[in-house]
Amino acid sequence: MFEWSEQHKTVRQMFRKFCDQEVVPHLDALDVGEQLPYPIMRKFFATFGLGEMSLMEYEARMASLEAREAALARGEAPGADKGPRRPKAFDAQAADMAAMKALPVIELSRHVPGLVTAMGVSVGLTAGAIMARGSMAQRRRFVPELLKLDKIGAWAITEPSAGSDAFGQMHTTARIEGEGFVINGQKTFITNGPHADTIILYARLDRGGDDAAERPVVAFILDGDTPGLTRAKAFRKMGMHASPTGELFLDDVRVGMDRLMGETLDGIEGGRQAAKATFGQERIGVAAMALGMIERCLELSVQYARTRVQFGRPIGEYQLIQLKLAKMAVARQNVENILFRSFAQAGAGQNPSLTEASAAKLYCAQVTMEVCLEAVQLHGGYGYMAEYRVEQLARDAKVLQIYGGTDEIQISQIARDLLGV
Ligand SMILES: Cc1cc2nc3c(=O)[nH]c(=O)nc-3n(C[C@H](O)[C@H](O)[C@H](O)COP(=O)(O)OP(=O)(O)OC[C@H]3O[C@@H](n4cnc5c(N)ncnc54)[C@H](O)[C@@H]3O)c2cc1C
Repeated sequence: MFEWSEQHKTVRQMFRKFCDQEVVPHLDALDVGEQLPYPIMRKFFATFGLGEMSLMEYEARMASLEAREAALARGEAPGADKGPRRPKAFDAQAADMAAMKALPVIELSRHVPGLVTAMGVSVGLTAGAIMARGSMAQRRRFVPELLKLDKIGAWAITEPSAGSDAFGQMHTTARIEGEGFVINGQKTFITNGPHADTIILYARLDRGGDDAAERPVVAFILDGDTPGLTRAKAFRKMGMHASPTGELFLDDVRVGMDRLMGETLDGIEGGRQAAKATFGQERIGVAAMALGMIERCLELSVQYARTRVQFGRPIGEYQLIQLKLAKMAVARQNVENILFRSFAQAGAGQNPSLTEASAAKLYCAQVTMEVCLEAVQLHGGYGYMAEYRVEQLARDAKVLQIYGGTDEIQISQIARDLLGV
């Protein structure tokens, strides 16, 4: 069974202190989108050396990928000479590291989940996708700057008429022309879109003459200032104001083969697979956000239930209020257990299946929404006021049920898996 270690608890306290000093004073400005999240993200990374830590991990991964490539070039199957495979022992360090990586997400989400969304898309999705599917040259060129937050990343698949059916309805095309591509289309709801320096953009490959619906999906790595790429200012939205969301317009954007993810047209169906792998990663990440948001709501609600007196007694003495608190505590425990399972899987060298990640996201998103709304209710009129912070968390929570695949899409993924269809 996984449990937080003393080291995790100590690190958590350090993050909490940072949030109290560096994040909480800016909550109002972040919540109306007056202040961008990037300077705080960079300060957070610099304070705890998170960029350097990610770079060390990156270097180790690159060294192992290079060794593998060299072995392949010599015609050797990597690892073939190591004898029969033994079952891998549980790697407690890997489980601990997975938990350590969740701590910034949990702690920042207690106050400003939008900042976590902006950070997660830049580091987790953008750098993560290039690390998973880019060529060695692309990994070297784009990943270190993203990991250090010197550059901000965006991951663009959604289009005005292609949301849940992102692949089926995708209209953005990349036409092959000479040695490169000409990209035309539009993307919407793109986190960091208005500010990103590095954008992963999905498009259908137009080789001329083929059926539009049959065209393979490919990904490109674009610079934010590529000629022909324009963006509108960030949308006004319900919550998550600390993460700017916007549109991208592509008008004859010309790029070379070096911008095609993987730099080769061999196995081009990879774009779709790469996007699916990223969905799984994104979905499990929601559990850590959910834990931070639920913990904060529970903490504020317990405090309020103890001190708010009505009809001569603290409201916490009324059973209807106790029910709300108890349900929040159960939600907290369930979400934490989902996270603990994902840490244990990391220790066992496994990834959750797409269906398991969908189930985790569905549950965590729904229960976070319920807890945040109940926290507002428990605070009465004060809960509706910005100063008490639960209304912001409630507005922020809604999008957990929409982005990274809506609740309905998670449900259909789970059901299709059950039915084998
Ligand atoms: C704040 C925010 C940030 C985002 N960031 C990004 C980003 O960085 N990159 C990116 O590419 N996208 C991003 N998105 C887009 C997000 O992933 C989509 O909004 C989401 O996938 C839903 O697509 P849609 O909005 O077009 O809704 P639609 O797909 O049009 O859905 C409308 C409704 O129909 C339901 N529905 C659709 N299909 C089915 C079905 N088969 N069965 C049952 N019900 C169905 C949906 O669940 C929903 O209730 C972001 C969205 C938001 C709001």
